[in-house]
Amino acid sequence: MSDKVLIITGASRGIGAATALLAAERGYGVIVNYAGNVAAAEAVCAKIHRQGGEALAVRGDVTLEADIDHIFAAADRMGRLVGLVNNAGTIEPSIRVEDLDLARLQRIFAVNTFGSILCAGRAVRRMSTKFGGQGGAIVNVTSAAAKLGAPNTYVDYAAAKGAIDSFTVGLALEVAGDGIRVNGVRPGVIDTDIHAAGGDPDRAHRMGPSLPIPRPGTAEEVARAILWLLSDEASYTTGSVINVTGGRGIAP
Ligand code: NAP
Repeated sequence: MSDKVLIITGASRGIGAATALLAAERGYGVIVNYAGNVAAAEAVCAKIHRQGGEALAVRGDVTLEADIDHIFAAADRMGRLVGLVNNAGTIEPSIRVEDLDLARLQRIFAVNTFGSILCAGRAVRRMSTKFGGQGGAIVNVTSAAAKLGAPNTYVDYAAAKGAIDSFTVGLALEVAGDGIRVNGVRPGVIDTDIHAAGGDPDRAHRMGPSLPIPRPGTAEEVARAILWLLSDEASYTTGSVINVTGGRGIAP
């Protein structure tokens, strides 16, 4: 049994996978959640196991409550939950608002917003001192799009992440007296598969030179901010969202 279990949603690829590898190095037992890509999730776990760490790949769609319960049950079997990284997220191809329909909005908000809120509730039930827990930390992965609005590309996704920015503040205040800190990380243009999901696989490299730090960010650079927020080094930090954007979107 681990006394330091961390659930990372969407940890089979990209930012979640980098966070899982770094968390395992720092002594967490990691629940590597994924939606469908079992090979990628198992590869992350195999790498952690080779380095002597503890990890378990757990399939689960964060838009389904039964799947979320399955993810948390796996964490309960691993040991004491001390943290949650709400990282699972997705975009869809560029679209203007007048062409959006309800089905797309429901998909985008289900993954990026509802899933994170539902997972956070399960984590609070386990970690809150009000429920007999010993405290913990939650990190929500939001997006620079929440501030920039993503016009002509994915305003729906930006709005879903904007909701997560608000949720981070609200939950942080709600559980500040329960031993739980809640923070966010706001990535900018990071070199992962997500751009292919948006129909533009070269987006990160194409945009890189025009960014204030003139390159795309790496998943590892985002992971390091997440791990800091989870750690005791951030013991008095709650309700904060750190920009990991190379300077993009920070000026009003
Ligand atoms: P990615 O490389 O596309 O990976 C997405 C991960 O989420 C995969 O592990 C995927 O699992 C999982 N996932 C997708 N839908 C899921 C669901 N319904 N339930 C559970 N897991 C699900 O994405 P990424 O770029 O690392 O993005 C990670 C987070 O950062 C997201 O919240 C994203 O919005 C945010 N972000 C990314 C960027 C960027 O430029 N990359 C910028 C701002 C914010 P499978 O492998 O099984 O499909």
